[in-house]
Amino acid sequence: MISCKEASYLSSKKLDAKLSVNEHLQLFIHICICSLCRRYAHEIKLLHQLLQKAGKTSLSMLPESTRLSIQSQQRIKLALEKAMHETGDGE
Ligand SMILES: [Zn+2]
Repeated sequence: MISCKEASYLSSKKLDAKLSVNEHLQLFIHICICSLCRRYAHEIKLLHQLLQKAGKTSLSMLPESTRLSIQSQQRIKLALEKAMHETGDGE
């Protein structure tokens, strides 16, 4: 069984790269058991979609305020990761 730290790592990796069958399975099993990581995976997926949407609009065309909000999304992502590690060990 992988740890919450590994599960959160795989959750982010999954958004950028294809996981191996084994990684996918490990993550799936962890997420079935651990509600924190399930929520985390859901949250970063939403953030990723937001960032992709923003990316398509071409960053240089966006007003300063929008760019700042993308930075805050990154901060939220980091804060989530930090919170995950602090509340870390399962239920
Ligand atoms: Zn977990």
